[in-house]
Amino acid sequence: MNVSNVVNNDLCLSCGFCEPACPNNAVNIKFDTQKGYHIPEINELKCDNSGLCYAVCPGVEVDFSELNSNRKCTIPEFQHFGNVLSTSVLFANNREIRKNAASGGFITALINYLFDSKQIDGAIVTKNSYDQPFNPVGYIARNKEDLLKSQMSIYHTVPMGKVMTELQQSSGKYVFVGIACQTHGLLKYMQIFPEIKDKIFLILGTFCGGYQTSLAHEYYFPKQGIDISKMKSIDYRYGEFPGQFNLGLNNGEKIEIGRRFKTKKKANQYSVAFNSSFYVPRCYTCADKGNILSDITAGDPWLPKFKNEKLGKSLIVSRTELGEKLINEAINSGYLTKEDAKFKDVMDVQKFDRERHGNQLAYKKVFSFFNKPYPKYSFIGKVKIYNRFVYFRVVADVIRLNIRERKSLWFLLRPLYFVESQIKNYFINNKPLEYLAKRLKGKWS
Ligand SMILES: Cc1cc2nc3c(=O)[nH]c(=O)nc-3n(C[C@H](O)[C@H](O)[C@H](O)COP(=O)(O)OP(=O)(O)OC[C@H]3O[C@@H](n4cnc5c(N)ncnc54)[C@H](O)[C@@H]3O)c2cc1C
Ligand code: SF4
Ligand code: SF4
Repeated sequence: MNVSNVVNNDLCLSCGFCEPACPNNAVNIKFDTQKGYHIPEINELKCDNSGLCYAVCPGVEVDFSELNSNRKCTIPEFQHFGNVLSTSVLFANNREIRKNAASGGFITALINYLFDSKQIDGAIVTKNSYDQPFNPVGYIARNKEDLLKSQMSIYHTVPMGKVMTELQQSSGKYVFVGIACQTHGLLKYMQIFPEIKDKIFLILGTFCGGYQTSLAHEYYFPKQGIDISKMKSIDYRYGEFPGQFNLGLNNGEKIEIGRRFKTKKKANQYSVAFNSSFYVPRCYTCADKGNILSDITAGDPWLPKFKNEKLGKSLIVSRTELGEKLINEAINSGYLTKEDAKFKDVMDVQKFDRERHGNQLAYKKVFSFFNKPYPKYSFIGKVKIYNRFVYFRVVADVIRLNIRERKSLWFLLRPLYFVESQIKNYFINNKPLEYLAKRLKGKWS
């Protein structure tokens, strides 16, 4: 048994942990230009069916209860939010770190504090590539200079797991920074290779809406007049918070593309590309937006009060005693500044109840109905379908997963998004009866 059937069933999420798990070097992660994300290539001649790549794979199965057994997270009745010791808004006091960050530079500032206070020997982070657009790497930063190269978020796939070989050969304590599926991969890897357990000092997670395939870029950037065959690099969060696209072209030119749109058509094109149609297929069946097995989860503070924020702030959920303690130490040592944030606000802005992550029971039912592969989950707490109207969205996702395979049908993606967003506006964002009352009031008043 190897991970080739994970790839064939579109369950691979590009985490990269299968590659170092293979004792025969039979697994090689590569960027697949057709699919638009990284997948493992298996050399069947070298494969002896040890099954180790399959055993560490979070694409095919996540047993939250088992993975949590080493994490000491107390999961509440409903698993979606994970354990929450406190919620806050934090930002780096170092201006350079804050300015170059995806959000408020919390992650980099905390790791910087851990370096300075000699609590760690390195941090497992990722950095973008500037010679090819889809070639980012996971690496171990061993000092502040190395660490600063990791700032900003990369929204296309990063096979972080590759770095495990170096970790296994290193001694000391390390911070791991990753999105939820990478956290799952790391924890599964630890079960098979327990020697790395003691080396992972802290897991810093981010919220995650989904990974973009390069199909999103193929769909969107030509509509902005850009020839993507000339694209050499891409930053997603460049400049003032919340940041804009910064594309590097082969001739050295840089093109900045903002996310504030003058027309509804342009806004819709952006949403079709980056908010609905071209996620890595396995992201549609991801049940962990909140990175619930991390020590601390960081995200963007999409709260109305930060609408005009320019420098950036990070929205934080601290989940373990260790996470809580380190945040307080970093604040008291002058590395971070804290503002209060209510639990309800955090959960509202992350849209747990409206989006797919919080409605995976509906996804499971619909995917099974259409005979589409669905990962094996065992949850910790209860899960529930938050909103029955999400079934429209699941069906729309199944349709778009079929449409997007044929570029000649891409013109259907925008009408599909339009219909889906109307249904969502009427039945999910507004309550249907409230919506009807508003319409009637408008008509007769
Ligand atoms: C794919 C993805 C989707 C996200 N979706 C959401 C969302 O829906 N809602 C939300 O609130 N926040 C989301 N985030 C988190 C947000 O973009 C910021 O990463 C987070 O707020 C931390 O910001 P910071 O300023 O503290 O980090 P910085 O100080 O800028 O440091 C960024 C850290 O993130 C790590 N990193 C960047 N890209 C990746 C990657 N692809 N895989 C693993 N690690 C990476 C870097 O190694 C670095 O350590 C997402 C992040 C990613 C990577
Ligand atoms: S999800 Fe990760 S471990 Fe599984 S096949 Fe894909 S890259 Fe390999
Ligand atoms: S949505 Fe889930 S599966 Fe997709 S990249 Fe984010 S954490 Fe991974």
